[in-house]
Amino acid sequence: MARFRCPVCGEEIYVNIKTVKEPIGGLYEAVVQHRDHFVKIYIDKSGFVRRAFPLEYFIRVDPPLYTVYIYEDRAEIIDRNGHTYITNPAPLIDAVRKITS
Ligand SMILES: [Zn+2]
Repeated sequence: MARFRCPVCGEEIYVNIKTVKEPIGGLYEAVVQHRDHFVKIYIDKSGFVRRAFPLEYFIRVDPPLYTVYIYEDRAEIIDRNGHTYITNPAPLIDAVRKITS
């Protein structure tokens, strides 16, 4: 478990990285999506985050019409122009439960 402070919003983040291969140049590289922003991190072999910096551009080629993130306390619906709408997650959680059960 690696821990670092998000360079965008300052929140503490915990990530689990599966380390099966030897890291290139001694460090593992990872892109972390945190809320509505992306962070690039470098983790050493002992799981220590050596560097974390904001990714300025995250380009999704051929984006979906809508991307939906469902959290415990809210749901975020993001349209293809990047506008985020916050809504009540309960009906969406119900819908997913119906589909997956
Ligand atoms: Zn953040």
